Amino acid sequence: MRAMILDAPGRPLREAEIDRPEPGPGQVLLRVRACAVCRTDLHVIDGDLPGPKLPLVPGHEIVGTVIEAGPEAGPTVGREATPAADQEAVRWSTGQRVGVPWLGWTCGLCADCRGGRENLCDRARFTGYQIDGGYAQYAVAEARYCFALPEAYEDRHAAPLLCAGLIGFRALRAAGAGERVGLYGFGSAAHIVAQVARHQGRRVFAFTRPGDDAGRRFAMDLGAAWAGGSDEAPPEPLDAAILFAPVGALVPAALRAVRKGGTVVCAGIHMSDLPSFPYALLWGERVVRSVANLTRRDGEEFLRLAPRVPVRTEVEVYPLARANEALQALRDGRVRGAAVLAPSGET
Ligand SMILES: [Zn+2]
Ligand SMILES: [Zn+2]
Repeated sequence: MRAMILDAPGRPLREAEIDRPEPGPGQVLLRVRACAVCRTDLHVIDGDLPGPKLPLVPGHEIVGTVIEAGPEAGPTVGREATPAADQEAVRWSTGQRVGVPWLGWTCGLCADCRGGRENLCDRARFTGYQIDGGYAQYAVAEARYCFALPEAYEDRHAAPLLCAGLIGFRALRAAGAGERVGLYGFGSAAHIVAQVARHQGRRVFAFTRPGDDAGRRFAMDLGAAWAGGSDEAPPEPLDAAILFAPVGALVPAALRAVRKGGTVVCAGIHMSDLPSFPYALLWGERVVRSVANLTRRDGEEFLRLAPRVPVRTEVEVYPLARANEALQALRDGRVRGAAVLAPSGET
């Protein structure tokens, strides 16, 4: 199969012909129909995240068709208990369309897994990081970590829901129920979260790179109440702010923008160092927190909600072989919405 391979961090991906993977017990083999490009892919490829599997097929927002189910992943046997009592076997049929997210496997046994916080499992393995992902014509995934996808979405439009959408959704929930929500960095995740926030009756304040007029227009098109540069103050205090831009210097800026008792959520997996700042910015019971990964429950809830909003994703489609161009466009902030790879040539 054709795949884009990371040989070492800091190098461009290499197009290669490699063996198609085989599904093991509990796994499914998918033909990849679309794979969205996430900022986390950049962090893996650029070496911001330690210890990726090498060589690696990146990509963790996969829409694929099940073409083969390994033992214990097919439809022939009924529900079957797995080591964790609360995790039952999930079975998919050949031909079914599924989504594969960042969370690729968890232990099911630790206190976090058993406490509904599998996103924090120390032994968790992640798609496109420790497990080969979707920048390829085929991918193997754990059946229990795949999602059914809402039928209303074409493949290319469903792909960004799988990370940008559902981790954005987790971040929005972590931001609390306040009405005025600031979004710093208006890319793939923010363009989805803005629609969910509006659906919930909130007002969105979008912060883009200074001078990014196109980004500001994009936010206003999606119903933002206000859009400005990340160096600007919002016209009124915010109840919460979510940082999608991986820029630590935005933390004090966002704290300055939220009211007393407000929350600043850092939603990215990596961020540049936070500068020191006066305690007065945190005073007044303001909260700074991060959001890490996702739980399968986040995914199920968000994928039920998305067609009801309805969330519409804006995508720019690239052939698989042009993955490096898609990554560079994301790095430069030139993507409107999400970049999506089409490994099967049609999506
Ligand atoms: Zn665990
Ligand atoms: Zn992601």
